[in-house]
Amino acid sequence: MIEHDRLVVAKFGGSSLADAQRIKNAAEIVRSNQDRQFVVVSAPGRRFPEDEKVTDLLLETNRLAVEGLPFDQAFEKVADRFSSIGRQLECHSVLDWLEEVHKGLGTHRGEDWVASRGEWLMAQVFASFLGGSFVDATSLIRLKQDGKIDPLSYDLISNQLKPNTVHYVIPGFYGLGPSGAIQTFARGGTDITGAIIAKGVNASVYENWTDVDGLRAADPRLIDNPKIIDKITYKEIRELGYRGADVLQKDSIHPVFETGIPINIRNTFNPGHPGTIISRERTIANGEGIIGIAGRSGFAAIQIEKFGMNEEHGIAGKIFDVFRQYDLPFEIAPMGLDEMSVIVTEEELNGKELELAAALTKAVEQTNIQILRNLGLVCLVGEGIRKDIDRILSEFSSALADANISIRTLSYGTSGNNIVVGVDGDKLPLAIRSIYRTLL
Ligand code: ASP
Repeated sequence: MIEHDRLVVAKFGGSSLADAQRIKNAAEIVRSNQDRQFVVVSAPGRRFPEDEKVTDLLLETNRLAVEGLPFDQAFEKVADRFSSIGRQLECHSVLDWLEEVHKGLGTHRGEDWVASRGEWLMAQVFASFLGGSFVDATSLIRLKQDGKIDPLSYDLISNQLKPNTVHYVIPGFYGLGPSGAIQTFARGGTDITGAIIAKGVNASVYENWTDVDGLRAADPRLIDNPKIIDKITYKEIRELGYRGADVLQKDSIHPVFETGIPINIRNTFNPGHPGTIISRERTIANGEGIIGIAGRSGFAAIQIEKFGMNEEHGIAGKIFDVFRQYDLPFEIAPMGLDEMSVIVTEEELNGKELELAAALTKAVEQTNIQILRNLGLVCLVGEGIRKDIDRILSEFSSALADANISIRTLSYGTSGNNIVVGVDGDKLPLAIRSIYRTLL
């Protein structure tokens, strides 16, 4: 065992490992810093936009196998990807490992087992190329029935992964479920494995190597070259991610959030870039209250109007009970003196609107219910919003007015970390552009 001042967990995503050359680059990154002791890998992803991810190929192969249809041709695509990688990296054992996967497909070992094989193969190939030590996730990660992490995993990790002269290479995305069978996390789950390993070894930093320079302050499909965020807090990234910016698998923040281990998003294709650091706190400079903006369309607002609503004891409870009864989770629920708007997704609402309106009318009495469809929500996120709220409110409302966009609903929670603005769904891109230009 050797002493390390800093321990780094480096997770490489599918696009960073999509072919042999990219795997070589990733290995080079690992070798270039001896603190990078623990490597967590995804299955090979897309090499070009129309390409398929190995996990999707495996799932398709499994579907055929389960339906009793010939699956060899589908499996061939997986085998081709890995045998070409194996040839170029001189890792000939890959053929034996592929044979094992092929056998497992024939004996129906379950969808999760098959889906996990991309990571399992990749980790062995990577370990062999790097001269590192492969440690299967089955000996480190335990999942509970509900798919969440069993805390026992942290003991398994700290007992088995001691800093050493060799690198440990661990497959992401899966572990063992309560029945002892392989169980996967949600898609994109290698991010979660990386975070769990980081917590288990008490890493100084969790590096998440992907194909972008860092997290952007807005969606690049809407804004031309939006700025890269250099530092952001866990809370802020959760808000941004939840409201439509996809960066990290959402469950991957929790394990590192608990211990305060920073996450560093880095670009395998531009390793010199420092990327984005996600941590507990950041210093907020003047005028930098907002860190990012995200948005999604496809919402509806159920407006419940009743004179004197604010004075009626327990009315919010009655309203929420109806939503619970119809199994309708709500996004936000801004309330005024005589009205409350409960915002839900159109998808969840569809088909339930008439019954819901009737149930609300019965529960609230003497009420007027209206449903506003096609709503887009723009979310401004930043822990510095509270301090600068007057300027931010006035600037974004004039930005929207200048673009001829009316605000249909507005919510600013007392935590002061976000402002959610409802606009017509088709105006959402324009709203995001106008606010970005003014405030970021
Ligand atoms: N390979 C899995 C997926 O495609 C997990 C991951 O890449 O994080 O979702």
